[in-house]
Amino acid sequence: MPLTEYEQKRNFKKSPEPATKAAKHSAKLIFVVQRHKASRLHYDFRLEMEGVLKSWAIPKGPSLNPADKRLAVMVEDHPYDYKDFEGVIPPGNYGAGIVEIWDHGYYTDNRNSGKEAEQELLKALEAGHLKIVLHGKKLKGEFALVKLRTGKDNAWLLIKRQDNYAVQENYNSEADTPKDSPINQALSASSQDNKP
Ligand code: MN
Repeated sequence: MPLTEYEQKRNFKKSPEPATKAAKHSAKLIFVVQRHKASRLHYDFRLEMEGVLKSWAIPKGPSLNPADKRLAVMVEDHPYDYKDFEGVIPPGNYGAGIVEIWDHGYYTDNRNSGKEAEQELLKALEAGHLKIVLHGKKLKGEFALVKLRTGKDNAWLLIKRQDNYAVQENYNSEADTPKDSPINQALSASSQDNKP
């Protein structure tokens, strides 16, 4: 029951997040990156596998520069419907704060497609080394997700591979976020409140 931990952490009468339902499948495997202002601002990177969303929290956000190795902490599986979730998680709930979709699209493993790709991806996930190709609006091209062999066993790195979509200059996902996004509006409103 991969979604048990997700369910245990949340009260769906109090949080607008999607409750779990039977797994479903799209024709293509989807990915989503949600920007999440909780106790700390972070990015949640999610890949569809077996009808759920395998999920990693990335404190610094993803990068298009191959020199950056971004810590990605694996967290509990999320239901497929979470791919569309944006909104406010009320105070007192797990992950209380604001969630907005930062990027989304589909992904492949670059060698196979459909069911065959999914089986290969699950094996690669188990082995701790995923090679994926993202087809998003911001994130494009080849990426690697590599599980760290030392330290906590949920620590991975998200690394852009060299290709036509890689950038050589500094990349900051915050700068690639609309200034009027829901989170940015809330942040600027609270900084106004704090002015004397
Ligand atoms: Mn989060």
